[in-house]
Amino acid sequence: MMHEPHGKSQTVTPIVSVARGIAPPRPVPPIELEHTDCPLCDADDVEPLFDGSDYNFGFAGQFPVVRCRRCDLVYNNPRVPPTQIEHFFDSDYAAHRHDRGRSRPARSRRASDASERVAPFGRARLLDVGCGGGNYLERMRAAGWDVFGVDPVARAIDVCHSRGLPAQRGTIPGVDLADRRFELITLLGVVGTLPRPCDTLETLRRHAAPDARLIATAFNANGLMARWAGPYWVGYDLPRECCHYTPRTLTRLLEQTGWRVERLTFRRRPTIARRSARVRALATASICWRLAASQRWLTSLISTAGVRLRSADEICVVARPA
Ligand SMILES: [Zn+2]
Repeated sequence: MMHEPHGKSQTVTPIVSVARGIAPPRPVPPIELEHTDCPLCDADDVEPLFDGSDYNFGFAGQFPVVRCRRCDLVYNNPRVPPTQIEHFFDSDYAAHRHDRGRSRPARSRRASDASERVAPFGRARLLDVGCGGGNYLERMRAAGWDVFGVDPVARAIDVCHSRGLPAQRGTIPGVDLADRRFELITLLGVVGTLPRPCDTLETLRRHAAPDARLIATAFNANGLMARWAGPYWVGYDLPRECCHYTPRTLTRLLEQTGWRVERLTFRRRPTIARRSARVRALATASICWRLAASQRWLTSLISTAGVRLRSADEICVVARPA
Protein backbone atom coordinates (compact mmCIF):
# COMPACT_ATOMS: atom_id res chain seq x y z
CA MET A 1 0.00 0.00 0.00
CA MET A 2 1.46 3.32 -1.03
CA HIS A 3 1.22 6.35 1.09
CA GLU A 4 -0.16 8.87 -1.38
CA PRO A 5 1.90 11.96 -1.94
CA HIS A 6 0.03 14.63 -3.81
CA GLY A 7 1.22 14.96 -7.37
CA LYS A 8 1.24 18.07 -9.49
CA SER A 9 -1.48 16.92 -11.84
CA GLN A 10 -3.88 15.64 -9.20
CA THR A 11 -6.51 17.70 -7.51
CA VAL A 12 -5.42 18.11 -3.95
CA THR A 13 -8.16 17.49 -1.45
CA PRO A 14 -7.77 19.80 1.51
CA ILE A 15 -7.55 18.21 4.94
CA VAL A 16 -8.36 19.50 8.35
CA SER A 17 -5.73 20.02 11.03
CA VAL A 18 -5.26 21.86 14.29
CA ALA A 19 -2.21 23.65 12.94
CA ARG A 20 -3.67 24.80 9.61
CA GLY A 21 -7.45 24.57 9.66
CA ILE A 22 -8.74 23.42 6.26
CA ALA A 23 -5.78 23.43 3.89
CA PRO A 24 -4.02 21.32 1.24
CA PRO A 25 -2.02 18.56 2.93
CA ARG A 26 1.63 19.21 3.60
CA PRO A 27 3.66 17.08 1.21
CA VAL A 28 5.82 14.17 2.32
CA PRO A 29 7.99 11.91 0.15
CA PRO A 30 6.30 8.76 -1.22
CA ILE A 31 6.32 6.20 1.57
CA GLU A 32 5.35 2.57 1.40
CA LEU A 33 3.40 1.63 4.50
CA GLU A 34 4.57 -1.61 6.12
CA HIS A 35 2.52 -4.42 7.57
CA THR A 36 3.12 -5.17 11.24
CA ASP A 37 2.00 -7.92 13.59
CA CYS A 38 0.51 -6.74 16.85
CA PRO A 39 3.26 -4.87 18.72
CA LEU A 40 1.89 -6.15 22.03
CA CYS A 41 1.06 -9.85 21.49
CA ASP A 42 2.59 -10.64 18.05
CA ALA A 43 -0.72 -11.93 16.67
CA ASP A 44 -1.94 -10.98 13.21
CA ASP A 45 -5.67 -10.98 13.82
CA VAL A 46 -7.21 -7.55 13.52
CA GLU A 47 -10.46 -5.73 13.17
CA PRO A 48 -10.17 -2.57 11.03
CA LEU A 49 -11.39 0.53 12.86
CA PHE A 50 -10.91 3.54 10.56
CA ASP A 51 -8.54 5.35 8.23
CA GLY A 52 -7.39 8.58 9.85
CA SER A 53 -5.39 11.65 8.85
CA ASP A 54 -2.83 13.83 10.52
CA TYR A 55 -5.32 16.10 12.25
CA ASN A 56 -2.61 17.83 14.27
CA PHE A 57 -0.11 19.01 11.64
CA GLY A 58 -1.84 18.30 8.34
CA PHE A 59 0.75 16.09 6.67
CA ALA A 60 -0.54 14.11 3.68
CA GLY A 61 -1.77 10.55 3.94
CA GLN A 62 -4.40 8.15 5.15
CA PHE A 63 -3.42 5.88 8.01
CA PRO A 64 -5.37 2.71 8.78
CA VAL A 65 -6.01 2.02 12.46
CA VAL A 66 -6.91 -1.49 13.62
CA ARG A 67 -7.69 -3.32 16.85
CA CYS A 68 -6.03 -6.63 17.73
CA ARG A 69 -8.69 -9.28 18.36
CA ARG A 70 -6.39 -11.14 20.77
CA CYS A 71 -5.16 -8.41 23.14
CA ASP A 72 -7.31 -5.38 22.19
CA LEU A 73 -4.36 -3.15 21.33
CA VAL A 74 -5.33 -0.40 18.90
CA TYR A 75 -2.50 0.28 16.46
CA ASN A 76 -1.62 1.56 12.99
CA ASN A 77 -1.47 -1.18 10.39
CA PRO A 78 -0.05 -0.98 7.81
CA ARG A 79 2.03 1.78 9.28
CA VAL A 80 4.70 4.30 8.33
CA PRO A 81 8.04 2.47 8.74
CA PRO A 82 9.83 3.76 11.86
CA THR A 83 12.74 4.87 9.65
CA GLN A 84 10.42 7.21 7.72
CA ILE A 85 8.45 8.73 10.56
CA GLU A 86 10.71 11.76 10.81
CA HIS A 87 9.03 13.16 7.68
CA PHE A 88 5.94 13.73 9.79
CA PHE A 89 7.57 15.95 12.37
CA ASP A 90 7.12 19.66 12.05
CA SER A 91 10.40 21.55 12.04
CA ASP A 92 8.79 23.63 14.74
CA TYR A 93 7.66 20.58 16.69
CA ALA A 94 7.33 22.13 20.09
CA ALA A 95 8.97 19.38 22.12
CA HIS A 96 12.19 19.86 20.22
CA ARG A 97 12.39 23.56 20.72
CA HIS A 98 14.40 25.02 23.51
CA ASP A 99 11.35 26.62 24.96
CA ARG A 100 8.70 23.96 24.64
CA GLY A 101 5.43 25.74 24.09
CA ARG A 102 1.93 24.77 25.03
CA SER A 103 1.11 23.69 21.51
CA ARG A 104 2.59 20.22 21.44
CA PRO A 105 -0.26 17.77 21.29
CA ALA A 106 1.61 14.67 22.36
CA ARG A 107 3.40 15.53 25.53
CA SER A 108 1.94 16.75 28.75
CA ARG A 109 3.85 19.33 30.69
CA ARG A 110 1.95 18.41 33.79
CA ALA A 111 2.85 14.76 33.32
CA SER A 112 6.32 15.47 34.55
CA ASP A 113 4.93 16.61 37.88
CA ALA A 114 4.29 12.98 38.75
CA SER A 115 8.02 12.42 39.16
CA GLU A 116 8.12 14.81 42.05
CA ARG A 117 5.63 12.68 43.89
CA VAL A 118 7.12 9.24 43.28
CA ALA A 119 10.73 9.66 44.13
CA PRO A 120 11.17 8.00 47.52
CA PHE A 121 14.94 8.05 47.09
CA GLY A 122 15.44 11.77 46.87
CA ARG A 123 17.74 13.03 44.14
CA ALA A 124 19.16 10.24 42.06
CA ARG A 125 19.68 9.12 38.47
CA LEU A 126 17.04 9.91 35.85
CA LEU A 127 16.68 8.53 32.33
CA ASP A 128 14.17 10.46 30.18
CA VAL A 129 13.23 8.51 27.06
CA GLY A 130 12.04 10.84 24.31
CA CYS A 131 13.60 13.82 26.03
CA GLY A 132 12.95 16.29 23.19
CA GLY A 133 14.78 19.58 23.71
CA GLY A 134 15.42 18.75 27.36
CA ASN A 135 13.06 21.03 29.28
CA TYR A 136 12.18 18.25 31.68
CA LEU A 137 15.84 17.19 32.02
CA GLU A 138 16.80 20.74 32.83
CA ARG A 139 14.10 21.08 35.44
CA MET A 140 15.12 17.81 37.09
CA ARG A 141 18.80 18.72 36.96
CA ALA A 142 18.01 21.97 38.70
CA ALA A 143 16.28 19.89 41.38
CA GLY A 144 19.50 17.96 41.91
CA TRP A 145 19.02 14.90 39.73
CA ASP A 146 21.76 13.24 37.71
CA VAL A 147 20.00 13.32 34.34
CA PHE A 148 20.37 11.60 30.97
CA GLY A 149 18.13 11.88 27.90
CA VAL A 150 17.57 9.83 24.78
CA ASP A 151 15.70 10.97 21.67
CA PRO A 152 15.72 9.74 18.06
CA VAL A 153 15.58 13.26 16.63
CA ALA A 154 18.99 14.82 15.95
CA ARG A 155 17.63 18.35 16.29
CA ALA A 156 16.35 17.58 19.77
CA ILE A 157 19.73 16.27 20.90
CA ASP A 158 21.46 19.35 19.50
CA VAL A 159 19.18 21.50 21.63
CA CYS A 160 19.95 19.39 24.73
CA HIS A 161 23.68 19.69 24.12
CA SER A 162 23.43 23.45 23.61
CA ARG A 163 21.97 23.58 27.11
CA GLY A 164 24.75 21.42 28.51
CA LEU A 165 22.41 18.48 29.10
CA PRO A 166 23.76 14.94 28.67
CA ALA A 167 21.70 13.26 25.96
CA GLN A 168 22.24 10.79 23.17
CA ARG A 169 20.51 10.36 19.85
CA GLY A 170 18.88 7.01 19.32
CA THR A 171 16.24 4.61 20.47
CA ILE A 172 15.99 1.96 23.18
CA PRO A 173 17.15 -0.66 22.54
CA GLY A 174 19.89 0.97 20.46
CA VAL A 175 21.59 3.57 22.62
CA ASP A 176 24.52 2.09 24.52
CA LEU A 177 23.67 2.43 28.19
CA ALA A 178 26.37 -0.10 29.19
CA ASP A 179 25.55 -1.21 32.72
CA ARG A 180 24.04 2.07 33.83
CA ARG A 181 21.09 1.92 36.21
CA PHE A 182 18.51 4.56 36.97
CA GLU A 183 16.26 5.23 39.93
CA LEU A 184 13.72 7.00 37.74
CA ILE A 185 12.85 6.27 34.11
CA THR A 186 10.34 8.48 32.34
CA LEU A 187 8.43 8.05 29.08
CA LEU A 188 6.31 11.18 29.01
CA GLY A 189 3.96 11.13 26.07
CA VAL A 190 6.16 8.81 24.06
CA VAL A 191 4.92 5.27 24.78
CA GLY A 192 2.51 5.48 21.85
CA THR A 193 5.33 6.37 19.47
CA LEU A 194 7.43 3.27 20.26
CA PRO A 195 7.37 0.89 17.27
CA ARG A 196 8.56 -2.09 19.37
CA PRO A 197 7.25 -1.22 22.82
CA CYS A 198 7.97 -4.64 24.39
CA ASP A 199 11.66 -4.48 23.41
CA THR A 200 11.92 -0.95 24.78
CA LEU A 201 10.26 -1.72 28.12
CA GLU A 202 12.26 -4.93 28.59
CA THR A 203 15.49 -3.09 27.94
CA LEU A 204 14.53 -0.33 30.35
CA ARG A 205 13.75 -2.97 32.98
CA ARG A 206 17.36 -4.14 32.77
CA HIS A 207 18.54 -0.60 33.47
CA ALA A 208 16.25 -0.08 36.44
CA ALA A 209 17.93 0.24 39.82
CA PRO A 210 16.44 -1.79 42.66
CA ASP A 211 13.35 0.05 43.86
CA ALA A 212 13.30 2.18 40.70
CA ARG A 213 10.16 3.80 39.37
CA LEU A 214 9.02 4.16 35.81
CA ILE A 215 6.54 6.85 34.84
CA ALA A 216 4.75 6.56 31.53
CA THR A 217 2.00 8.74 30.12
CA ALA A 218 -0.12 7.95 27.10
CA PHE A 219 -3.28 9.23 25.52
CA ASN A 220 -6.25 7.05 26.38
CA ALA A 221 -7.82 5.50 23.29
CA ASN A 222 -10.74 4.44 25.46
CA GLY A 223 -11.41 7.91 26.87
CA LEU A 224 -14.66 9.83 26.52
CA MET A 225 -13.36 12.10 23.76
CA ALA A 226 -11.77 9.24 21.84
CA ARG A 227 -15.13 7.55 21.80
CA TRP A 228 -17.14 10.66 20.94
CA ALA A 229 -14.86 12.28 18.39
CA GLY A 230 -13.94 8.93 16.79
CA PRO A 231 -11.20 9.21 14.15
CA TYR A 232 -11.06 12.98 14.74
CA TRP A 233 -9.77 12.61 18.29
CA VAL A 234 -6.41 14.37 18.08
CA GLY A 235 -4.90 12.05 20.70
CA TYR A 236 -4.35 9.48 17.94
CA ASP A 237 -1.74 11.92 16.60
CA LEU A 238 -1.44 9.96 13.36
CA PRO A 239 0.93 8.78 12.09
CA ARG A 240 3.47 9.75 14.79
CA GLU A 241 1.77 7.63 17.44
CA CYS A 242 1.70 4.05 16.18
CA CYS A 243 0.07 2.37 19.20
CA HIS A 244 -2.99 3.78 20.97
CA TYR A 245 -3.20 2.52 24.53
CA THR A 246 -6.00 2.10 27.00
CA PRO A 247 -5.54 1.52 30.74
CA ARG A 248 -5.80 -2.21 30.08
CA THR A 249 -3.34 -2.48 27.19
CA LEU A 250 -0.83 -0.15 28.83
CA THR A 251 -0.96 -2.25 32.00
CA ARG A 252 -0.49 -5.40 29.95
CA LEU A 253 2.53 -3.90 28.17
CA LEU A 254 4.20 -3.14 31.50
CA GLU A 255 3.31 -6.43 33.14
CA GLN A 256 4.61 -8.56 30.32
CA THR A 257 7.92 -6.70 30.24
CA GLY A 258 8.87 -7.11 33.90
CA TRP A 259 7.10 -4.17 35.54
CA ARG A 260 4.36 -4.01 38.12
CA VAL A 261 1.89 -1.14 37.94
CA GLU A 262 1.82 0.65 41.25
CA ARG A 263 -0.59 3.43 40.34
CA LEU A 264 -2.69 4.33 37.33
CA THR A 265 -4.28 7.75 37.24
CA PHE A 266 -6.10 9.89 34.71
CA ARG A 267 -5.36 13.44 33.68
CA ARG A 268 -7.56 16.25 32.47
CA ARG A 269 -6.62 17.41 29.00
CA PRO A 270 -9.24 20.00 27.99
CA THR A 271 -7.06 21.14 25.09
CA ILE A 272 -7.29 17.69 23.53
CA ALA A 273 -11.07 17.76 23.91
CA ARG A 274 -11.32 21.25 22.41
CA ARG A 275 -9.05 20.49 19.47
CA SER A 276 -10.83 17.23 18.73
CA ALA A 277 -14.18 19.00 18.74
CA ARG A 278 -12.81 21.67 16.41
CA VAL A 279 -11.33 19.14 13.99
CA ARG A 280 -14.54 17.16 13.93
CA ALA A 281 -16.58 20.34 13.40
CA LEU A 282 -14.42 21.40 10.45
CA ALA A 283 -14.29 17.93 8.92
CA THR A 284 -17.99 17.22 9.14
CA ALA A 285 -19.43 20.75 9.10
CA SER A 286 -21.33 19.77 12.22
CA ILE A 287 -23.05 22.60 14.06
CA CYS A 288 -23.13 20.59 17.31
CA TRP A 289 -19.40 20.01 17.26
CA ARG A 290 -18.73 23.62 16.27
CA LEU A 291 -20.68 24.68 19.30
CA ALA A 292 -18.78 22.22 21.49
CA ALA A 293 -15.47 23.54 20.19
CA SER A 294 -16.41 27.14 20.92
CA GLN A 295 -17.58 26.55 24.49
CA ARG A 296 -14.54 26.21 26.69
CA TRP A 297 -16.63 25.37 29.73
CA LEU A 298 -18.09 22.41 27.86
CA THR A 299 -14.80 20.81 26.81
CA SER A 300 -13.47 21.57 30.27
CA LEU A 301 -16.48 19.82 31.80
CA ILE A 302 -16.01 16.81 29.52
CA SER A 303 -12.39 16.58 30.65
CA THR A 304 -13.34 16.75 34.30
CA ALA A 305 -16.04 14.13 33.79
CA GLY A 306 -13.43 11.95 32.10
CA VAL A 307 -11.27 11.99 35.21
CA ARG A 308 -14.23 11.20 37.46
CA LEU A 309 -15.29 8.33 35.21
CA ARG A 310 -11.72 7.08 34.80
CA SER A 311 -12.07 7.79 31.06
CA ALA A 312 -9.97 10.92 30.65
CA ASP A 313 -7.81 11.69 27.65
CA GLU A 314 -4.51 10.85 29.30
CA ILE A 315 -3.30 7.96 31.42
CA CYS A 316 -0.35 8.21 33.80
CA VAL A 317 1.19 5.01 35.10
CA VAL A 318 3.76 4.60 37.81
CA ALA A 319 5.42 1.19 37.79
CA ARG A 320 8.26 -0.56 39.59
CA PRO A 321 10.31 -3.61 38.71
CA ALA A 322 8.21 -6.73 39.24
ZN1 LIG B 1 -2.39 -8.13 20.14
